[in-house]
Amino acid sequence: MKYVSTRGSAPVLSFEEAMLTGLARDGGLYVPETIPTMTPADIAALAGQPYEEVAFRVMKPFIGDAFTDEEFSDIIARAYAGFDHAARAPMVQLGANHFLLELFHGPTLAFKDFAMQLIGQMFEAALKRRGDRVTIVGATSGDTGSAAIEAFRGLDAVDVFILFPDGRVSEVQRRQMTTPDDANVHALALHGDFDDCQARLKDMFNHFEFRDGVKLAGVNSINWARVLAQVVYYFTSATALGAPHREVSFTVPTGNFGDIFAGYIAKRMGLPIKRLVIATNQNDILHRTMLSGAYTKAGVSPSISPSMDIQVSSNFERALFDAYGRDGAAVAQQMQDLQAGGGFTISQGAIDRLRELFDSGRASEEETTATIRAMYESTGEIMCPHTAVAVKVAQEHLAGDVPMITLSTAHPAKFPDAVEAAIGIRPGLPKHMADLYERPERMRQVANDLTAIETLIKEQIAT
Ligand SMILES: *Cc1c(COP(=O)(O)O)cnc(C)c1O
Repeated sequence: MKYVSTRGSAPVLSFEEAMLTGLARDGGLYVPETIPTMTPADIAALAGQPYEEVAFRVMKPFIGDAFTDEEFSDIIARAYAGFDHAARAPMVQLGANHFLLELFHGPTLAFKDFAMQLIGQMFEAALKRRGDRVTIVGATSGDTGSAAIEAFRGLDAVDVFILFPDGRVSEVQRRQMTTPDDANVHALALHGDFDDCQARLKDMFNHFEFRDGVKLAGVNSINWARVLAQVVYYFTSATALGAPHREVSFTVPTGNFGDIFAGYIAKRMGLPIKRLVIATNQNDILHRTMLSGAYTKAGVSPSISPSMDIQVSSNFERALFDAYGRDGAAVAQQMQDLQAGGGFTISQGAIDRLRELFDSGRASEEETTATIRAMYESTGEIMCPHTAVAVKVAQEHLAGDVPMITLSTAHPAKFPDAVEAAIGIRPGLPKHMADLYERPERMRQVANDLTAIETLIKEQIAT
């Protein structure tokens, strides 16, 4: 299995190389050269299997010969051993044909653990074999950073630096990043917003001297291995509800388009997904794009679902690449327009192709709060604000006999203020992190300045 860049002019890589590289050298994102498919019989055989077994069968064709079958099984087993639910991704029912897929049973209480725990184990196995080490730098709107730190803390072959927007993540998110005391963990509070963090990260990848000097590796949702890990729960949930004999739809709370893009891959692999619904908060660039065909940046306004407070949705580039018939030059042109003029217009053919599968909607702050309250009253479920955004949008897209599966992306205790404001109940942290508020914090402030960030990273890995 080979991986190509969405901008068409970076080297073609193996799975392992694409995983260790992150962003392609032409600024693009790696995608598989071809998407392997599963037959209806293959898919039917997944029903009722343990999560780890489904993970192995779904991901194996994408990894080529990066790991032997035995190594890959061990990697998967270790990745999900720290989850606190035997099903890993259990479902609960919200209404007649509406289901919630709980993706918050990992160590940092958000769906990002599914990908990050797996990637941590894969990096360790690959780097050990190579006798190599890397510097991982990630940008986070909150949940990626804690998930990355939890996945890489204490590993010998990796230093991990996380850039987060100072003052714009929840206290639980911040403490999850600043309280691990492992020497290889570095939490950096950047003076800016998430888009600044993401932009500086991209700058570092495009600064080849620094990139090669520190052996920079990326684990943001642009990393193909992360998208791949997220494909698995589309299969476990859909087959639990009758796929491949019955179609299902999904609604996904979306920021960087990584989680929902995994659903698109599942569809391309043969899973009978009828609609994939993009749910955004008030930072609704994706919803506006689907309506108008024009992708136009606007400022970020902080919301109660902060992990979706972004205006540049990196993984959307992967969807565009396919919508443009895999024309890397066309994608590169659009990204250049975005950089230069703050936006681009998608061709009619490409937007039509996107609309064949994707629907979209948005939830305002008030609608998000009202949904948390309504769901608590009608089902007893306490949900995080990101999940509530998706539930609100999903309700507008329920369609008769096709089950709707809404992705629940974080535990409500990660966002206790928003939940308490809605229902007057402050959700408690699970046992394993009950003392989070007492642990000492460790972080460094850094300016929104490439040179300052690079200097700090070089100093830290030298000591
Ligand atoms: C990251 C995150 C999202 C958005 O996921 P993307 O893959 O970036 O679209 C939604 N909800 C929560 C809780 C998150 O942490």
